[in-house]
Amino acid sequence: MSQYKYIKVPAGDKITTVPGQGLQVPDRPIIAFIEGDGIGPDIWRASQYVFDSAIKHCYGAKREIAWMEIYAGEKANGIAGTYLPDETLEAVRDYRIAIKGPLTTPVGGGFRSLNVAMRQQLDLFACVRPVRHFAGVPSPVKNPEKIDMVIYRENTEDVYAGYELKEGTPEAKKLIEFLDREYGWKIAGDSGVGIKPISKTGSKRLIRAALNYAIKNKRKSVTFVHKGNIQKYTEGAFNKWGYELVKEEFSDVAVGWDDCAGNPGDKILVKDAIADIFLQQILTRPDEFDVIATMNLNGDYISDALAAQVGGIGIAPGANINYETGAAVFEATHGTAPKYANLDKVNPSSVILSGVMMFEYLGWQEVADAITRGMIKSIEKKRVTYDFHRQMDGATLLKCSEFGREIVDNFLTA
Ligand code: NAP
Repeated sequence: MSQYKYIKVPAGDKITTVPGQGLQVPDRPIIAFIEGDGIGPDIWRASQYVFDSAIKHCYGAKREIAWMEIYAGEKANGIAGTYLPDETLEAVRDYRIAIKGPLTTPVGGGFRSLNVAMRQQLDLFACVRPVRHFAGVPSPVKNPEKIDMVIYRENTEDVYAGYELKEGTPEAKKLIEFLDREYGWKIAGDSGVGIKPISKTGSKRLIRAALNYAIKNKRKSVTFVHKGNIQKYTEGAFNKWGYELVKEEFSDVAVGWDDCAGNPGDKILVKDAIADIFLQQILTRPDEFDVIATMNLNGDYISDALAAQVGGIGIAPGANINYETGAAVFEATHGTAPKYANLDKVNPSSVILSGVMMFEYLGWQEVADAITRGMIKSIEKKRVTYDFHRQMDGATLLKCSEFGREIVDNFLTA
């Protein structure tokens, strides 16, 4: 008997973790998916076809995913009367890995955002966004091929923690009076007030994940991006704790800029950049950056700015991971684009490349590589969806589902 009311558990095995050894992935793992709202179902259909075809291509009958649908967003509201049923979070905790399409943010549904709620409730503290260019993808910059970064954005703290008081409320007035009385802080009486918590534990676990990624993937540098010149005890502290962590736990493989005068030898160089300068430098000299570790709000801006440089949100993948429990939710980074819903029109690459991240996380590298090969070839041949088609000369326009088939045809023949 399933413990869930709406979710049907398919035949397959649970992914587990063993302390010190990480994820244990069986040959028929149960993986949860949320198809998403708006364009979600179109994109999910195309993506699932690519994933299953790539597994079959790489492993024949030896491996297969047992997909388990879980519910969030409008579909959940229709089935269970809530946008985020408890059993959806429970299923991700139980089965560890999920992949999702975009979700509508319900207006007045009691949620700031379903995505933020999932990240916080599952404590998925690292938002990981790789940003690279695929040759041929239209870009607004001259040398998009110089961009190859992986952003580690802290996912649970900062102004996203949601501690805000509305202007004019008794609570806001009380806090403003308290701050004046206790600290002599003068804040205009008609202010809304927010709190920005940045903890040592939260900062260090995010930076640890970024450094571990850099080591595993043989990256050259990790850059902390912060506004610590102004926000000394939040963003400045993040930076300070980062350098501290390098000395405490990574001194055999990484070194801070000041401790090596910028010459790390064969170690990973750890440096930092003020957020505003960083946003200039990713345009003027992006090849100087590799792995980025930053806080929640900076990470949000940086992810979108960099995604635009390599071809926009139709193609940007993302993952939300808790490296301590192994739980991870891979997701499209764009929204539900409701005007294109059910037209089989949009670009499914964001979910497909999120799947590539998922297969890398599972250790099914061959599958990740096959899909990436198929994607590169499809774009090279200029057989693309409308968003790229309108910016490419001589391209062939494909539907969402046709683009999925194109990727498969290309890795089968590559
Ligand atoms: P959006 O859904 O991302 O769409 C904005 C525009 O981006 C689209 O009109 C389209 O541009 C382009 N686009 C988005 N996805 C695309 C794809 N797969 N392929 C090609 N082009 C794509 O943003 P929005 O309209 O501001 O938000 C709509 C809803 O999504 C809101 O409810 C919002 O809260 C939600 N949302 C969810 C997530 C998430 O679940 N991760 C993220 C952001 C927003 P053109 O019209 O120019 O072709």
